[in-house]
This record gives sequence, structure tokens and C-alpha cells, in this order.
Amino acid sequence: MKRQTNTLEVFPRVPLCPLWLKICVALPLAIALAGTQACTKGTSAGATASATEKPESAAATSVQPESAPTDNAPLPHIDSKRAFQYTREVTAFGPRYMGSENHKKLERYIVDHLKGDQVEDDSFTADTVEGKFPVRNIIAKFPGTKDGVIVILGHYDTVYPLRNSGFVGANDGGSSTAILLEFANQLRGGGSGKRRDGYSVWLVWTDGEEAVQKWTDTDSLYGARHLAEKWENDGTLKKIKALMVMDMIGDADLNIDRNTNGAPWLLDLIYTAAERGGYQSHFYAREGSIEDDHIPFVKRGVPSADVIDLDYGYNNVFWHSPQDTMDKLSPKSLEIVGNTILETIRLLDQR
Ligand SMILES: [Zn+2]
Repeated sequence: MKRQTNTLEVFPRVPLCPLWLKICVALPLAIALAGTQACTKGTSAGATASATEKPESAAATSVQPESAPTDNAPLPHIDSKRAFQYTREVTAFGPRYMGSENHKKLERYIVDHLKGDQVEDDSFTADTVEGKFPVRNIIAKFPGTKDGVIVILGHYDTVYPLRNSGFVGANDGGSSTAILLEFANQLRGGGSGKRRDGYSVWLVWTDGEEAVQKWTDTDSLYGARHLAEKWENDGTLKKIKALMVMDMIGDADLNIDRNTNGAPWLLDLIYTAAERGGYQSHFYAREGSIEDDHIPFVKRGVPSADVIDLDYGYNNVFWHSPQDTMDKLSPKSLEIVGNTILETIRLLDQR
């Protein structure tokens, strides 16, 4: 789950309307949305519009950064078929909530895919309102030649309160686990001991992201909160140049939200990377504040971004629903996010 602390502002994908332009720039959301409806009477605009339509409102442009000059380096590519297959395999384990047998199977599956890599655990027992649970963050480290670390997080647990509902979290839990496995393939490079040319990259499969009852500051983000505190105490946080969370990135109708509690420069850099791939129409049509695994790090001053699409089905109806299944996902979406994040890493390496 990701609790929204306020409603995501939707920048409507509608034909230009001069009145709308003034309204959406000048007035708050509620009035702006009313203006939208007035402007788009008789059209099928709004949330049902295709994600590939480019937002045309002035407000939408205002949250999208200027194009940065880029070099001619080829865009990095993930193997999206393989990433999709990982998602399918992870989802096939069934419900993978904290403390479950399927969760243990998935832990083994992740570690089995990291053979030969530098893998560490951050394990502890979480004391929750539903009792005690073993929690295990799995960390794979890919050392680089530059001083500093880029961290990518993605949770692998599924929703505990939905454990008996048939909820398998293809997108919510499955896609994040899978994209990190594919990043590991890309970062591994050619053999043992070889450092990547750039910052070190650490991949973290976080555990206990979901609440066990109802999302609160203390019932949520168990793994990320533990890891942030640990890394604060041992000095690791100071080395982190950028931290990015992958969550619910497999939706075939992909709209990555601009999460306003992230670092603006990092959100902009991700957008620049997306533009290089021609993917920008999938980014930042909406903005708002979303709580996710980045929050404990944001609170400690780490430059962070949450790469999430919290518009899963019309009105987000598939989110935390038994309908969060493979048929809603697309390898293309994994490719868009995967390539964009690899490109973001490349741009970060140049800084
Ligand atoms: Zn969730």
C-alpha cells in the first residue's frame, strides 16, 4: 500500500481551452477540476484518457522540466521479456505476506538469482499489532569506481490483511521484485570482481512495506524504516547520492506519478532520462504526495524519488484488490521504467 496524504492532482489530458489554462494555473485543485469539466463537456477526457496522450495543460507543462542537453550515448536496455517472466514466476508463488511459507519461497527465489553477487541481509523481528513477524531486506551490492552509492528499492511482500482473499500482487510486489532482478542482470556486467564504471549501485528487496492492519506511521514500511535507521547509525546514509523506489510499475496503462515528497532534481533527472527514450508521455501527468519505502530516507535527508503508478485501473480499482493479476501488466511498461532508470543511473554517474 501507499497511503496518499492528499489527492493526486490530475493534469487533465484535454483539448486546450483558453479559460482552462487560466483556471488551472491560478486556482487550487478543486476549482481547477471544476474548470476542467466545464471545458471538456461532451468529451471523454479525464482519467479514462489514454496514457499516451500528451498532457496539454499549462499546469502539466509546469511540472515537467526543461529538456536537458544529452550526449549521444545509446539508451540502455533491459530484457523486458525476462523481467516479465520474473514477474510471472514471482506472482505464481501466490500470496507472499510477511511470515508466510510463500514468502520464504520467494526469499530463496530472489537469493538464487543473485548467485555470485555480493548479497547481504538486513533481518530482524517486527513487533506489530498482529504479532511478531520475521522481516528480511535482501541487499545486492554492485561496486563502482566512483565514491558514492545509488540505491534502488522495491518491496517483495504482499498485503497481509488480504492474505485470504486470493490477492497475489502481480503489480504490487511482483513487478517491483522482478524489475530489481533484471537490474541485477544488467549491473552484474562481465564477471566477478569487475567494478562498474560509476557509482556503486545497491539493490534492496524490501520486506514489510505493507501494513498488517491499517496504514499508519508505525504500521507500514517495516523493512525500510529498519534499514534507514541502521544506515543512519553506521554512516551509510551519507554516501547515498540518490535513492529510487520502484513500485507498481507493471501496469499496461502506465502513468508514473510525480511524487512531490521526493527530491525535485532527482524527479527531473528521471524525466530527462524518460525523454531520451521517448517515454515522457508515461511520466508525471499527475502529481501528489504518496507514502512509500522512500519516506524513512526522505526524513533523514537522502535525495529520493518514488517511481510509482498509483492509477491502476480506472480510479485505481485494481490496487489492493484480488484483480491485481498478470493480465493487467505489460512487458512494455517494465521496459519503459527499466530503461528509464538505467538511463537515470548513467546520468547520475556523470554528475
Ligand atoms: Zn501495496
